[in-house]
Amino acid sequence: MMNSDPLKLWEAVWNELMHEFNAHKGRWGNERWREPFQLLGAGLIYTHNAIISMPADTFHGPMRTAVKDSLQVWKLFYQKRKEPVLCPNTDNNAAELFSTMHLASSSFRLVTALFLVHEAILNLTSTGPLFEFVAADDWKRAKLLPHLKKTRGLACCQKTHSKLLEEQTALAIILAHRDEFGHREENIAGSGWFKERGGYAKEFPLCRVIEAQLILANLGVKELSKIQ
Ligand SMILES: [Zn+2]
Repeated sequence: MMNSDPLKLWEAVWNELMHEFNAHKGRWGNERWREPFQLLGAGLIYTHNAIISMPADTFHGPMRTAVKDSLQVWKLFYQKRKEPVLCPNTDNNAAELFSTMHLASSSFRLVTALFLVHEAILNLTSTGPLFEFVAADDWKRAKLLPHLKKTRGLACCQKTHSKLLEEQTALAIILAHRDEFGHREENIAGSGWFKERGGYAKEFPLCRVIEAQLILANLGVKELSKIQ
């Protein structure tokens, strides 16, 4: 399970990505393959940084309280009067901020990577779990809303013995996580997803966000190989 060692799951997905690179690197000139490949790689690097730098109590806690005192960390940056060292594990005061920023950066890359992959192979196959959510230029958020609603009360990985998240749930989680940091649609009237997603996103245990990212990256790598 996820809670035993998220880095092991990460390594498995990363190795699949490297395998895909070696098998199809001849497609580098094909933007339809290269662009989502690079986004998946970048997303996985950000997820890795989030995993290795996240304090243990933050890792299993809800997103809402991930950074316990966000004012304090910026005060510390200011008081140092020089640039902080922001590599993973070099400044414990910045670990929460660093890890949650990288987690958000991964979600931005992964939802785009998954969309580009699905768009590229839509005419070849449509048997995967996420095809029904692909619109002309973005994910069908309204259609994902019921899957987002299923995350109400989503337990931390330590409190559940269920199997890993379904891909549809993982996409709803990562899209809501990404939108939470997008900040452009808070006041769109009459739209269920945009009105409701914040209430769910703030409650996601961060361990399950990481799990959802790895599930989506894994699916993206598998579908990537189908791009011609
Ligand atoms: Zn957990």
